Amino acid sequence: MKAVKNIPLAGPVLNGNEKKYVMDCIDTGWISSNGKYVTAFEQNFAKYCGVKHALSCANGTVALHLPLLAYGVGQGDEIIVPTFTYIATANAVTYCGATPVLVDCEPDTWNMNPKLIEEKITDKTKGIIVVHLYGHPVDMDPIMEIARKYNLFVIEDAAEAHGAEYKGKVVGSIGDVGTFSFFGNKIISTGEGGMITTNNEDLAARMRLLRGQGMDPERRYWFNVVGYNYRMTNMQAAIGLGQLENIEWHLEKRKNVANAYIRELSEYKDLFTIQTEMPWAKHSYWMVSILLTDKIKSSRDEIMMLLGNDGIETRPLFYPMHQMPPYYEESTYPSADLISARGFNIPTNAVLSESDITYICERLVYHCEKNT
Ligand SMILES: *Cc1c(COP(=O)(O)O)cnc(C)c1O
Repeated sequence: MKAVKNIPLAGPVLNGNEKKYVMDCIDTGWISSNGKYVTAFEQNFAKYCGVKHALSCANGTVALHLPLLAYGVGQGDEIIVPTFTYIATANAVTYCGATPVLVDCEPDTWNMNPKLIEEKITDKTKGIIVVHLYGHPVDMDPIMEIARKYNLFVIEDAAEAHGAEYKGKVVGSIGDVGTFSFFGNKIISTGEGGMITTNNEDLAARMRLLRGQGMDPERRYWFNVVGYNYRMTNMQAAIGLGQLENIEWHLEKRKNVANAYIRELSEYKDLFTIQTEMPWAKHSYWMVSILLTDKIKSSRDEIMMLLGNDGIETRPLFYPMHQMPPYYEESTYPSADLISARGFNIPTNAVLSESDITYICERLVYHCEKNT
């Protein structure tokens, strides 16, 4: 039987000046990585985050690679990362020849547990990468305290959390560096794209150098170091600027979607729970995520399949790094293991209608109740 509905999990909403700005790039021929939109996107993004420097780049993965390179991370170094994240966080460390050292997550926010960090620090540890998972900010104060105590840098991987706030501060402005992704399903998008935020002038200069193949800023086509081509194009930045102009609208819409889910689903705590929003947090709701309780007898994948048959697209939560071949460990990370096995994302995008939300909730409750 064919489902009547077809509700996608995510997708970009390009309803501002995006088209106008891209057409301007084409009309003027400024389609490569120089141009006014790159500059404007960077300046406006820095302003939005309240930082001195924002550097656009090719994607959210190289946005992590550049600061690690700029800090001189290399062979033999260790970087603390959460096991429960998207693989790009760990891969950026591996690109440098360094080792990602995994830490389990908190049972309620699902973010890296600050209480479990210190036991993983050795004399090889150079820095910490935190991830604001699914748009929920990390509890940054204890992280910054540990970093100061052991003289470590802190990178905030905010790929999923544009506009999220920790105690009133926008993410990406709290650690030494913040990194963002503008992939097609993220809160705002440029198709593919990334951004790095920092207040550290020297670090920004070093990252700018490495982003542009390492060309000496004082001497064209002279190279003192091996750099990379990690630049963003003017066309991507044109889309990004259009998106950024409307970011408050995007965040507001997502918040409304999340609130509607919470309203309709919170009376079923025996069946499932939703990633908890802490009192100090402003969640930016990249994805609304739910966790099935052990009252549900079917597997998470079976519930997702049933929803799929109803025309509702869902997505399993990330597999923890320690379960997969590149980062496999015998050790268990109990919170990440449990959440990853029982959790999934439900459709979250700025244009999801009230009636679709009601339908999704109704089908979700139906399948869960039938499978207790
Ligand atoms: C999406 C994402 C990235 C990588 O971004 P790309 O633009 O896809 O390279 C990095 N970290 C996290 C946590 C992400 O969700």
